[in-house]
Amino acid sequence: MVPAVAVVPGRPHSAELRSVPLEEPGPGQVRVATLAVGVCGTDAEIDAGGYGTAPGGDGYLVLGHESLLRVETVGPGVSGWAAGDLAVGIVRRPCPQRCPPCAVGRWDLCETGDYRERGIRGLHGFLRPALAVEADFLVRVPAELAPVAVLTEPLSVVEKAVDVAFRLQAARFDWRPRRAAVLGAGPVGLLAALLLLGRGLDVSVLDRRPAGSLKARLAVAAGARYLDDGEAPLEKAGPFDLIVEATGYAPLAFRAMRCLGPNGALALTGVTSGRRTLQVDANAVNQETVLENHVIFGSVNASRAHYAMAIEDLGAWVRRWGDLVGRLITGRHALPDFRAAFDRSPDDVKRVIEVAGEVAGA
Ligand SMILES: [Zn+2]
Ligand SMILES: [Zn+2]
Repeated sequence: MVPAVAVVPGRPHSAELRSVPLEEPGPGQVRVATLAVGVCGTDAEIDAGGYGTAPGGDGYLVLGHESLLRVETVGPGVSGWAAGDLAVGIVRRPCPQRCPPCAVGRWDLCETGDYRERGIRGLHGFLRPALAVEADFLVRVPAELAPVAVLTEPLSVVEKAVDVAFRLQAARFDWRPRRAAVLGAGPVGLLAALLLLGRGLDVSVLDRRPAGSLKARLAVAAGARYLDDGEAPLEKAGPFDLIVEATGYAPLAFRAMRCLGPNGALALTGVTSGRRTLQVDANAVNQETVLENHVIFGSVNASRAHYAMAIEDLGAWVRRWGDLVGRLITGRHALPDFRAAFDRSPDDVKRVIEVAGEVAGA
């Protein structure tokens, strides 16, 4: 048995350490040690009881979907992996019906909604010292990226959104965006800022933290402009060729629609729960969207290719920005102190739980 952080889905604040079986790798699987797990709003929401599904028959769900893993033992029929290799686990699994996108490895575009996700939906997560995973759902990580590779999964989500924006635009003309805005300076927002700066764009990052806050300083240190939404509103700073919305605060998404320039693209990545009613100038939004040929789209999750792009970019960023990338990790906690990682402050970017140096209980 190994200790794991698990919840009873639907029961508020049920996250606790629980003993779970140590899985043996079956055919096509490897056993991995979990070196690090990043915590995000999804984990907090599952712990709050608003989200999450236990695997069939188990009354609990092991949390953890943002991983850094080390291969320990290789099961039958697995080639290309050896003990000591570092990897990140792919979160989503295709639906059993194998809908058209799932059938071609685009589970991120699943149409039935019956996909499973490690640590979120129907599949236990990584918050335990060791587990067995399908080798086909691992992405290789170069050893030198070990300090920051736990950012791969959240970055894969950003890679997809930006990739989709560029592909949609390329389908209609030779798009050369210059000015971008990122709404939100949390992990997704700051990762989006680095990605767009890396592509040579002029980037503004908007949040509600003061200019001297850590998030603002990280954005500026990377080369972005920081906009405190209380003082320098988006509307004055625009228009933008590309906006990535990463707060999930729906009124901001509607404001962003009116801050796009001609042919501008808006990627919505924030997941919003609950209900909100909003007054908008619907005619103006509609007219500007049409007359300026705007592209507005939603994006969630990522395909294998986006994980690979994330690892590629993390390497490029470490070469360009050095330890700035690692400064996005604002707290590291041992497994028994997992609560401290869940209790994030507004100045936290990414808190990480360091799970296993060695495989415990093997
Ligand atoms: Zn996450
Ligand atoms: Zn599907």
